[in-house]
Amino acid sequence: MSLRATPFPVVIAAPSGAGKTSIARALVERNPDVVFSISATTRPARAYEVHGRDYYFVDDREFDRMIEAGELVEWAVVHGHRYGTPAAGIAAALERGETVVLDIDVQGARQIRRAFPDAVLVFILPPSGAELGRRLAGRGSEAGPERIRRLENARRELPAAAEFDYIIENDDLERAVCALESILVAERHRWRRYVDPEAEVERLRREVDEILTRRE
Ligand code: 5GP
Repeated sequence: MSLRATPFPVVIAAPSGAGKTSIARALVERNPDVVFSISATTRPARAYEVHGRDYYFVDDREFDRMIEAGELVEWAVVHGHRYGTPAAGIAAALERGETVVLDIDVQGARQIRRAFPDAVLVFILPPSGAELGRRLAGRGSEAGPERIRRLENARRELPAAAEFDYIIENDDLERAVCALESILVAERHRWRRYVDPEAEVERLRREVDEILTRRE
């Protein structure tokens, strides 16, 4: 068989602290044909972040320019900063036949659904509110008011889970990554994702036909 599946974007959204970045990172590390979409943001870089690997860190003027030039397939204001997905990165990955993972917020997920109707949308849930609060408290960079802001955002964003194709509860990282990998495998096997599956089935039928003809 030489069935070929068309690559598609995968959106992973979750309230801050649900663990989506760890899940997305593990998925990309384990699967050579899965790559990250690198967003542009006006948020200042954290100490451990690298320009061009974690984000493209840009100023307001550059972000405005990107919007006006139509370089962003979606963008949104999250926690007071602007974030956007460069269209070129998505197009290049799909062109190479790779599955491209977008770690973005709920507003961005909705825009991606409109731009790429074949995208797969996955929402990550924390196992409990208490665990979410603990995880946010554990992040050195998000102490005090920032933590409260993220918890308020979580309360607002959680109902959006109903708009997604899949829900994964992240009570255990390994299980969550396995669930996500299974979703991708299943999605790649959908009839409508294959390039001309009718032709492939027809080719197989002809091959079987030839064997039968030879026997007669
Ligand atoms: P952080 O500042 O913690 O890296 O990200 C804050 C939030 O912005 C996260 O929910 C993250 O998924 C979201 N985000 C990151 N990049 C993008 C993007 O390109 N578009 C949108 N809409 N959200 C993004």
